Amino acid sequence: MMWTRVGLLWLTLSALFISGCGKESEPAAGAAAPQQTFEWQMVTTWPRNYPGLGMAPENFAKAVNAMSGGRLKVKVHGAGELVPAMGVFDAVARGAVQMGHGAAYYWKGKTPAAQFFTAVPFGMNAQEMNGWLHYGGGMELWREVYEPFNLVPFAGGSTGVQMAGWFKQEINSVADLKGLKMRIPGLAGEVFQRLGGVPVTLPGGELFTALQTGSIDATEWVGPYNDLTFGLYRAADYYYYPGWHEPGAMLEFIVNKDAWESLPPDLQAIVKYATRAVNQDMLDEYTARNNAALKELVEKHGVQLRKLPDDVVAALRQASREVIQETIAEDEMARKVYESFQAFKTDVAPYTAISEDAFLEIREQSAAPAGSASSDADASSSSDSSSSSGSGSSSGSP
Ligand code: CA
Repeated sequence: MMWTRVGLLWLTLSALFISGCGKESEPAAGAAAPQQTFEWQMVTTWPRNYPGLGMAPENFAKAVNAMSGGRLKVKVHGAGELVPAMGVFDAVARGAVQMGHGAAYYWKGKTPAAQFFTAVPFGMNAQEMNGWLHYGGGMELWREVYEPFNLVPFAGGSTGVQMAGWFKQEINSVADLKGLKMRIPGLAGEVFQRLGGVPVTLPGGELFTALQTGSIDATEWVGPYNDLTFGLYRAADYYYYPGWHEPGAMLEFIVNKDAWESLPPDLQAIVKYATRAVNQDMLDEYTARNNAALKELVEKHGVQLRKLPDDVVAALRQASREVIQETIAEDEMARKVYESFQAFKTDVAPYTAISEDAFLEIREQSAAPAGSASSDADASSSSDSSSSSGSGSSSGSP
């Protein structure tokens, strides 16, 4: 006991001595290369500290501050604090602030090509988007698209496959979309319009009130974890899947190019790898939290979970093709980005089919009741029993 106290005292004194030495020797090291410190402001399209989406800028700021030893300090501002949610792009582009966090498809009015970096209806999932951006030429194109705006983009987190959204009424046919006012941004909004809907773009913080007061009839947002936070279940009963419109919504960090170029290489590396870490972290968090939130929505709040009817999905798919073709016909940069996106998707699809898709299929089968598994086996072993095969599959799928 006594020895331990003496030991602790010695350690404390040594620490004081060493830290004192550090301070003493600083001028010598500093004389060779004085270390400049930077204080950056980051504006976001999310409410401050908003779960999931809004934690990416907070986590980025913490990581950068820690990794740079305080040489680069980033202060995060929620939507409306310094600039409105939809003013983030302009504020960073003109250098009023150094950084922003949001989603590229909010800026389709600036450049239509931006939309392909967030979400493409029936496009790529999170894994594939990350592959395209970081190993398939996507990131280089994103930089090219933002270059005229004096912005440097980075991937800023993915939500994974989203939910199709909240509706006040059931959707049983394409006709049910006619005249429906829905918050649905980007390319998907134009797809929705083509099927007779009325798309609007609103920042997340305004969704609940808009839905509750009836100024919109439906809204997509993210998925169970975020949608629960906004209380959207209190304003609409029907919660539809799957997220045809945002199969792997990618968010973005944007940095003012002059601010970026003012950083020494080591701080640039810290910014780059901090975005990369935060990008993966967001997907990890959604993967961990969506399921519990969905349970709460259904079991505690009585939300009606619904799958979009096949014919509605087919109409959405067809309209998506048309909207994308028209978008790329009107804008050369959008065409260039989409061609790269689509080529990557076409390349990876065959392997996704025999890896992720095939695995998820067998995982579901192994989790099915023993009875349905054995009836499948019976059906495949008898050559001409189409009726038993039919009954086996219908009993196996509720
Ligand atoms: Ca969304």
